[in-house]
Amino acid sequence: MTNTNRSLSFAHAAALDAADPLAHFREEFVINDPQWIYLDGNSLGRLPKQTLPTLQHAVQHTWGDQLVRGWGEGWYDLPTRLGEKIARMIGAQPGQVICADSTSVNLYKVVTAALAMRPDRAVILTTSDNFPSDIYILQGCAQAAGKQVRVVEPEQLVQAIDSQTALVALSNVAFKSGMLYDAAAVTRHAHDAGAWMCWDLCHSVGVVPVALDDWGADFAVGCTYKYLNGGPGAPAFLYARRDLLPEVLSPIWGWFGEQNPFAFDLEYHPGAGIERFLAGTPPVLSMLAAEAGVEISLRAGIAAIRAKSIAQTGFLWELADALLVPLGFAIPTPRNANRRGSHVSLQHSDAYRINRALIEDEQVLPDFREPDVIRLGLAPLYTTYQEVWEAVQRIRRVTETGAYQKYDTRRSKVT
Ligand SMILES: *Cc1c(COP(=O)(O)O)cnc(C)c1O
Repeated sequence: MTNTNRSLSFAHAAALDAADPLAHFREEFVINDPQWIYLDGNSLGRLPKQTLPTLQHAVQHTWGDQLVRGWGEGWYDLPTRLGEKIARMIGAQPGQVICADSTSVNLYKVVTAALAMRPDRAVILTTSDNFPSDIYILQGCAQAAGKQVRVVEPEQLVQAIDSQTALVALSNVAFKSGMLYDAAAVTRHAHDAGAWMCWDLCHSVGVVPVALDDWGADFAVGCTYKYLNGGPGAPAFLYARRDLLPEVLSPIWGWFGEQNPFAFDLEYHPGAGIERFLAGTPPVLSMLAAEAGVEISLRAGIAAIRAKSIAQTGFLWELADALLVPLGFAIPTPRNANRRGSHVSLQHSDAYRINRALIEDEQVLPDFREPDVIRLGLAPLYTTYQEVWEAVQRIRRVTETGAYQKYDTRRSKVT
């Protein structure tokens, strides 16, 4: 057996698991059927065991017994408290991050705010690999402000930033290919041209080191239900650079963003700090669940998580290259670990049906993205190397045998 083959063996995967300093974190998650290989933590993270008693207590004790007094028992300051915890994972000094709303709504807020501070410039610039919902939000903001959205190919981004660019809005990790942008460099280019820079961190927060303050980013948004394991529909977060805060204004003026919500004044005065980006009452239960998820990532530490993510995606990349590329798969995800996030994508003309067969017949749960991509998301807090190895064998099996061909190419509603 050659060295390469040995490094792709099951025994090697088992040895990597045995030596993994984060292995014990898997026990902190609900995993009822270990036969199922879950590779969609980049879409919805697993349920942390701690979330169950946390929610049980919040519902039964705080809501049930304390009723409205719950607001004085840690509900009211949840958006800023949780914001500060997320801040530690995205390289933000205190006072610049809140937890609120959804990523889409937060993007609307910061983009509208940024455009208002560059009234003389006409263009929002983004790339074709950005998440479509982000592009829709940009289009809506542009229409309302009389601006336009320019969508360029990722390779053309830097040359496309010019004196007409008001804002560059990008995803740090591209949702389909898994490509990781050099955020410090792109932010510098945006600033050199006098444009604002906004990062969407949905596919990087909790798994890729993010350094918003060091990058000099102006705005950022991201979600807590992917690698942070906050639960379905968990609230998102929003970052605005501290020195912009005195002048930047949210387009949604609600009482939670007011200087003194309980003064019930009839004139709006924005809060002094980042809380001015809050709008209405926070979803308390969802936020408490998000907090339980965030705590685990903070304890594990982003450096250790990233080290494991690089090792696991590298292992997967090499396995896929050796076993799946010969079966007609291509790997759009960069081979260079510094240029990828924590999922590896596989492209195949029959990707939809192969993905379906993996779920129906092979107990593997990845996801499919139109038109021909299967995404394999690796969540270092609970994904094992043995699962990575086994998943590739199962993908090989359904493809080689043609077992997937019994499925229809008609799409289901949620993929
Ligand atoms: C997951 C994701 C979103 C989700 O936005 P929601 O408002 O939570 O639906 C947005 N942008 C990117 C880049 C994402 O990956």
